[in-house]
Amino acid sequence: MRLGEVRFALVHHDACADTGFHYRITASGKTEACASESERVGRAHCIEIALEGDFSGRPPDDPQLKGLRALLLTLKQRYPRIAIGGHRQVRGEKTTCPGRRFPLRELLDWSRSGLLAERDAALEADVERQYRPPN
Ligand SMILES: [Zn+2]
Repeated sequence: MRLGEVRFALVHHDACADTGFHYRITASGKTEACASESERVGRAHCIEIALEGDFSGRPPDDPQLKGLRALLLTLKQRYPRIAIGGHRQVRGEKTTCPGRRFPLRELLDWSRSGLLAERDAALEADVERQYRPPN
């Protein structure tokens, strides 16, 4: 995928066999790169992200969600128009992925408000690092 072609970041559990993944986030929150973002591994225009686990019985722990949010923040900075969703939201696909106990609504609420606030704070800090006004 070329830079302008990335439109979606789709969250899966890593028991999902429907697609390849660009990133995998371990239970402890570590992000592993599995494929280049320029490569299509699943759906068109989509960065595919897997979380270790299946979340049918219990939700992911905080460190893993924190790792996911950090990755999504990076992607949002790289692709400002990227939309974030869970696999089960894809029209026509019959799956519970990323799992019945995955807190998808909370993640989406955060992606609409908290993510933008964090992105703006990161951009501001970046500008401040590069530019110090004269006294
Ligand atoms: Zn999936």
